[in-house]
Amino acid sequence: MAFKERVFSGVQPTGNLHLGNYLGAIVKFVALQQSYDCIYCVVDLHAITVWQDPEELPRNIREVTAAFIACGIDPSRNIIFNQSQVAEHAELAWIFNCVARIGWLNRMTQFKEKAGKDRENASVGLYAYPCLMAADILAYRATHVPVGEDQKQHLELARDIAQKFNNDFSASIRARGHGDAFFPLTEPLIQGPATRVMSLRDGTKKMSKSDASDQSRINLSDADDLIAQKIRRARTDPHPLPSEGAGLEDRPEADNLVGIYAALSEKTKAEVLAAFGGAQFSDFKAALIDLLIAKLGPIRGELKRHLQDPAAIDEVLADGAERAQRIAAETMKAVKDIVGLVRR
Ligand code: ATP
Ligand code: MG
Repeated sequence: MAFKERVFSGVQPTGNLHLGNYLGAIVKFVALQQSYDCIYCVVDLHAITVWQDPEELPRNIREVTAAFIACGIDPSRNIIFNQSQVAEHAELAWIFNCVARIGWLNRMTQFKEKAGKDRENASVGLYAYPCLMAADILAYRATHVPVGEDQKQHLELARDIAQKFNNDFSASIRARGHGDAFFPLTEPLIQGPATRVMSLRDGTKKMSKSDASDQSRINLSDADDLIAQKIRRARTDPHPLPSEGAGLEDRPEADNLVGIYAALSEKTKAEVLAAFGGAQFSDFKAALIDLLIAKLGPIRGELKRHLQDPAAIDEVLADGAERAQRIAAETMKAVKDIVGLVRR
């Protein structure tokens, strides 16, 4: 069965958006709106799987929303909303909790990393996170999901859940006129030279909002001199840049900075190395700082401007939630019928 093509993705309001979120996700969100119906969600229910201060959470929700708009997502052509305003996400997630198997969730590396050593003390929500993520996507029967590389495993799980639902309920799905599959097997869109931007302090760890060190990341809100300072202090090795990609192997910090430069300048890493091969890091970093400031400066300005009008942001979210809910409610009704739950 052919599904209507639709893009869905989400970002957690867990703190400042950073260069990894921008290059791994938001740049793609902006590009995809040219050719798809897109739904972009501020996933606040995901955020509370770890502790969020109730005084700060609303500000973070509005900040991610403002960042979406500042980066160029048009809320009138697409849907932008926060997850908790559409209850169907949580409702469908419960159905998926009953479809997914404990063994599948036990393999999720994000849970292992975020729960750390004290796993017994992690929230049940953090463990069930991937089922909610599958519900986010499948409530809209989305066919394409742009994400960073770190979310690949969760997307594979979403496909497994869709497949098992389609199989378990195949007779009911067919009997209700949905053909041989109710949910699509969503395609992850993970492309380009910066699908996994690494920490500036440690080339083996991904850049994250939740990293305790602010020096580990470039935030979209960072002023020009702070960007410059963070890049100058970014960890590197003592060798000059290689002229070909193979020379980046086993040099995670060099690879990371070259990847960032490539993504920002819309070139390949090979093209960047052709220009900078043999250069010292001091020179390459100076060029990278100029590029970062040129690209992020205007976004920061827009972000500030939007944040001055929280009521307008709330309106975007309310309007988006209304439009999102119309789609999700239809899915949820069909799911209830397929599963055999009596409804009004
Ligand atoms: P947290 O540390 O709270 O999990 P995060 O920085 O990982 O925050 P998310 O909201 O979990 O951000 O992810 C939003 C999007 O950004 C996802 O598509 C994710 O794959 C992408 N992303 C996150 N970090 C990176 C990174 N370092 N490089 C590329 N993409 C990333
Ligand atoms: Mg994350």
